[in-house]
Amino acid sequence: MPSQIFHPEFKARPFWWEAYAPETMAPIELPRESRVAVVGAGYAGLSAALALNDAGIDCIVLDAHEPGFGASTRNGGMVSGGVNVGKRYIAKPLSPEAAAPFMSDAAEAFTHIEDLIAREKIACHWTKAGYFLGAWCQSHYRAMEKKIAVLNANAQTGAYIVPRERQRDEIGSDYYRGGMVVERAAHIHPALYYKGLLDIVRRRNIPLAARTPVTKLTQSDSGWIVTTPRGDIKAADVVIATNGYTGDVTPQFKRRVVPIGSYIIATEELPPEIARSLSPRNRSIADTRRVLTYYRMSPDGRRLIFGGRAKFGQTDPVETAPVLYRFMVDRYPQLEGVKITHAWTGNVAFTLDEMPHMGKFDNLHYALGCNGSGVAMLSYLGFQTGRKIAGHVNRICAFDSEDFPTHPLYTGNTWFVPWIGRYFRTRDWIDRNIGG
Ligand SMILES: Cc1cc2nc3c(=O)[nH]c(=O)nc-3n(C[C@H](O)[C@H](O)[C@H](O)COP(=O)(O)OP(=O)(O)OC[C@H]3O[C@@H](n4cnc5c(N)ncnc54)[C@H](O)[C@@H]3O)c2cc1C
Repeated sequence: MPSQIFHPEFKARPFWWEAYAPETMAPIELPRESRVAVVGAGYAGLSAALALNDAGIDCIVLDAHEPGFGASTRNGGMVSGGVNVGKRYIAKPLSPEAAAPFMSDAAEAFTHIEDLIAREKIACHWTKAGYFLGAWCQSHYRAMEKKIAVLNANAQTGAYIVPRERQRDEIGSDYYRGGMVVERAAHIHPALYYKGLLDIVRRRNIPLAARTPVTKLTQSDSGWIVTTPRGDIKAADVVIATNGYTGDVTPQFKRRVVPIGSYIIATEELPPEIARSLSPRNRSIADTRRVLTYYRMSPDGRRLIFGGRAKFGQTDPVETAPVLYRFMVDRYPQLEGVKITHAWTGNVAFTLDEMPHMGKFDNLHYALGCNGSGVAMLSYLGFQTGRKIAGHVNRICAFDSEDFPTHPLYTGNTWFVPWIGRYFRTRDWIDRNIGG
């Protein structure tokens, strides 16, 4: 099967890069000093820089690769407003009361990205078509009924339950045991959204140093010395916005985020009637399976973009494409035989409490930990970090806390991740076949 699934023009790179790929940027001369240095030029880093620039604070953004190299041009482009906060597959679930402020701020994150795209006229196919979450098993469906009230009370998501007999209104498949719709959700072209942010950064002449890895951070009397192979920069404040690519330069954060590969395939253009039937309301779709899948139509509605945790480690996306293909055909048997034109991967950053985080730790500001849902959230937390440095916040964001957990045995070596994968697969099987 594997060789037959690939289109003759198959590319092992993001489908999104057909519209915008991280470009080779001319090197800039590094300043010797900047009030703030932002490490990482994804959504979080650029959003922090924009908030600082709004406040008239000078900053430089540094990226080890071309800007956009990270998850910000590789993701599924699904924008959710709270539904994914604190899924807690492993950590103890939050009570509705404890979850409320997080959901409320997640709803703010959705407002932030929606307003930004409208205000800045970012042409990124923003489509507020809602989200369908398929229940993997009966018990997940029952849990949704409880979650909907909490979501609607705190994140104004317009969520409602969809029993199995009405599931075909939402998805051209009988695979799930019913599900729920979240109306306040959208999808975008993630690389064009990224380009939109980058264009604003360039228009405002915010310095952005490509191919400039930060290799050392040293505390000084006046803040930090930021070391790169191209020279040192003195900065009063440093923002760490490296998410799933966090490395040895910040061991304190490497111990707090677990990089996990997420994988996506794109199909060839489908016959129009099949394409229209897959997601009749053009919703983004995901499921409650621990070995998660997430999918949506391409902006032109012709292809299925299908992602998931095909493997838990970081592997060649060509190897994982057949696994995703099987997941896709399990849900949509009508796609058997369709070819795939693109397969790719990127790193998401899981945290030990399965929550996103911002704050200040060891005197470094950070916005980290998307847990797979960072398009809105890390844009928002990056922006909030910039505003906080500027002293422009009038309330503390729920995700801004000193409690960013680690584990004494975790130092950044992810040897255990495949075991989590095995555990998830076993739990999924039990839930679906025995647990009800
Ligand atoms: C395949 C995939 C699918 C996803 N799907 C979705 C989705 O549908 N919806 C959703 O909400 N979220 C999704 N996500 C998550 C989302 O893409 C991320 O949360 C978001 O892009 C993270 O943005 P960021 O700016 O924090 O990090 P990134 O965009 O990953 O950028 C981090 C940057 O840090 C740089 N860096 C690292 N170390 C250094 C250093 N020492 N010096 C300088 N630079 C450094 C890297 O080069 C990189 O460019 C997905 C992620 C992946 C990988």
